[in-house]
Amino acid sequence: MKVIWNDKIVDRNEVKIDMEDRGYQFADGIYDVVRAYNGKFFTLDEHVDRFFRGACQTDLELPFSKEELKERLTTLIKINQIDTGNVYFQITRGIASPRNHTYPDPEVVAPVFTASATVVPRDQEKMNRGITASIIPDTRWLHCDIKSISLLGNIMAKHEAHKNGADEAVLHRDGAVTECSSSNMWMVKDGTIYTHPDGNLILPGVTKIVLLRAAEKAGIPVKEETFTVEQLKNADEAFSSSTTIEAMPIIEIDGCPVGSGKKGPIVEKLQQYYLNEVEEQCGS
Ligand code: PLP
Repeated sequence: MKVIWNDKIVDRNEVKIDMEDRGYQFADGIYDVVRAYNGKFFTLDEHVDRFFRGACQTDLELPFSKEELKERLTTLIKINQIDTGNVYFQITRGIASPRNHTYPDPEVVAPVFTASATVVPRDQEKMNRGITASIIPDTRWLHCDIKSISLLGNIMAKHEAHKNGADEAVLHRDGAVTECSSSNMWMVKDGTIYTHPDGNLILPGVTKIVLLRAAEKAGIPVKEETFTVEQLKNADEAFSSSTTIEAMPIIEIDGCPVGSGKKGPIVEKLQQYYLNEVEEQCGS
């Protein structure tokens, strides 16, 4: 497998990550995941924009322009002959010694960039069947809008959900649902879709942008407002969204069925619109 390591494309086993890399020591870095269908990126601009926003929010000076980054990622999927799959890319603030919380001088310490690509076909069967979830307190920090490589809060929540026998963790702060451990969260009640507004408590999902557009095209009303765990438990439908899972029905929460306990008609419609947009951007 070929990967990107700083400005080079190299074999996966040539990459050397220093033990004093600030990503390794402090989780001082940001990342993103973008998906390709039929050998073409879907919503690449939005992912790259979010990456640059995250760099700005963390004062991390990126060593390339948006265009250069897009070119490099495009080369990566071509070289690896990725038809349908995921590209993971991240940057850390670099290798600084001795260990010190203060940001190093960017004139002296260069960031470390890596990217890899993996073939991952669409799992239509899973998108029809749906997944289960468990309600877990959201104990993460207050900069959830930054796609930080520091994911301990997220993985601890997912681990709790798995211990409860569920696929995903639905997170809440004082009873208000924020998002899931690795996706945005949605519910449907009486024909209206609800999802948490953007802000510092959730990651502004690129899939969320696509689904909001899909709902508008389909004439389904959406309210970007907070809903409670109680409201979620009484919802007609629930689903989560991310680049890798698209719009994924949540059919059971803490052992109780959501609505009919099967994929509902609204998420079904959004899945179809999502696929239409994929086909428009990437071909079929
Ligand atoms: N929320 C969290 C915590 C995530 O980790 C992700 C994706 O990884 C999302 C939301 C969805 O973001 P996107 O739709 O851009 O993949």
